[in-house]
Amino acid sequence: MITENFIGFERSAQGENTYSAVNPVTQETLPGAFVAATMEEVNLAVNKAHEAWKVYRNTSGAQKATFLRTIAEEIEGLGDTLVNRVMEESGLPEGRVKGERGRTCNQLRMFADLVEEGSWVNAIIDTAQPDRQPIPKADIRNMLQAVGPVVVFTASNFPLAFSTAGGDTASALASGCPVIVKAHESHPGTNGLIAEAILNAARKTKMPDGVFSSLNAIGYQVGTALVQHPQVKSVAFTGSYNGGMALHKLAADRTEPIPVFAEMGSVNPIFVLPGIIKTQSEALANQIAGSVNLGAGQFCTNPGLVVIRQDENTEAFMENLGSAFEKLAVQNMLNQGIYQNYERLKKESLQTAGVTTVADQSNDGENWEAYPAVASASAAEFLMNPNMQQEVFGPFSLVVQCEDEEHFYAVADHLHGQLTASIMGTQEELAGYADLFDTLQTKAGRVIFNGVPTGVEVCHAMQHGGPFPASTDGRFTSVGTGAIKRFARPVAFQDCPDAMLPAALQADNPMNILRLVDGNWVR
Ligand code: NAP
Repeated sequence: MITENFIGFERSAQGENTYSAVNPVTQETLPGAFVAATMEEVNLAVNKAHEAWKVYRNTSGAQKATFLRTIAEEIEGLGDTLVNRVMEESGLPEGRVKGERGRTCNQLRMFADLVEEGSWVNAIIDTAQPDRQPIPKADIRNMLQAVGPVVVFTASNFPLAFSTAGGDTASALASGCPVIVKAHESHPGTNGLIAEAILNAARKTKMPDGVFSSLNAIGYQVGTALVQHPQVKSVAFTGSYNGGMALHKLAADRTEPIPVFAEMGSVNPIFVLPGIIKTQSEALANQIAGSVNLGAGQFCTNPGLVVIRQDENTEAFMENLGSAFEKLAVQNMLNQGIYQNYERLKKESLQTAGVTTVADQSNDGENWEAYPAVASASAAEFLMNPNMQQEVFGPFSLVVQCEDEEHFYAVADHLHGQLTASIMGTQEELAGYADLFDTLQTKAGRVIFNGVPTGVEVCHAMQHGGPFPASTDGRFTSVGTGAIKRFARPVAFQDCPDAMLPAALQADNPMNILRLVDGNWVR
């Protein structure tokens, strides 16, 4: 068990504070006393990352691709040692852990393909017009370049795919940025195994020392120091609204403010149209309940809000939903804090004036299990009470019942920024809700038709990030190849000699990438 910090290729354990992981199912302390990083170790890691960046930023796409693919191989090479430790630290079942490992490795390979191909740098070339009147036009060429060291806060709810070698790390390394990981307290052993796999890959592919570091932490001191460090240029985070906003404010208050790409809370509303409720009431209820309870509701795309139009079919639908929730399996939550938050917020929601409990599996209070619940409120109450839009992280959903069309649209208008918004309806009725579709495009990063929001495909077109408060910057995504753009900035070159230009911008296009040359896309 590796319990030290990784400062580039060196292991370090200067601190005196240690902590251990807890199995959320048995509540037993797991082997390993992890040594929290000191401020000196934070400095060492960031300084190394800064030095590594000077080399790594100019590493070719092909070399970065080999590095990323080797990380995937190293992770797969960990076999059951990794799977078992993730299961022990998260309580997640084997199938989910293996699936997440597959997603993590596919993600690394997808970014490898992206940077090997090379067109992601968005090369734009406006050639010179020396004879232009009244003044000549200069030769201007533009491409994306890596911003510098990136701090990644690993997520509690995805110990692999949004953690040490997850999408944030993969996209930052792909862009040419060194990464310093702030490990999540819940899964330090998993972090140690993956960090070592990344560093083995870095050694094998001759990447510079400092291209990757990983620091253990208890409390906020290490995370705060990392965000405030002057040589850190960007931050990626997945977690709570409070955590994301605290880091965003810290970063904004620096002498040199930097971006914090925080993916925070979302209630992912599903608008269910009357026609589909009439024809598919029971199937819809089961589908929605299943999505709410997936992974014990611990997904950022969990549907925490269902919006319906009241009519003669509402009662039957609510009964179907209630019985679907009553049949849901009870699952363990990831850690004590998440479990306690869920219990508290669920209770607060169910006790809110105007909220009626539809189904609530009671809790025996003996362990960290999430008992699913569904409640209901009128649109009028929802519009008056901002707390009803608050994310209850866990298997909970609130059904908002709209007495007329006006309230249905008012609820859509009233929504905060969301990661996703869904519309469920029959083919015949969907066309009649073009205005709803239009409004939801202004509220969410991803609009889904006749599907639930859980299950985020990792692909080129994915948008996982929405208007605030779903994310701190809804222009970007944390899933899919677009995630790389968070860690790169455009640099323009004016009248630069061809031989001195980066290959992506040279006249004969040696990388054979897609470029916008004098307004035309060409290879
Ligand atoms: P979190 O509390 O936001 O913490 C995430 C990471 O940020 C942890 O490493 C934490 O450090 C660090 N952090 C939080 N606040 C900080 C601050 N003020 N200064 C410096 N570092 C800070 O999220 P969590 O631990 O994963 O889960 C707690 C709650 O977050 C859940 O109950 C849920 O409500 C929400 N959550 C939401 C999502 C989502 O996708 N929407 C995902 C996960 C969690 P420590 O480890 O030292 O605390």
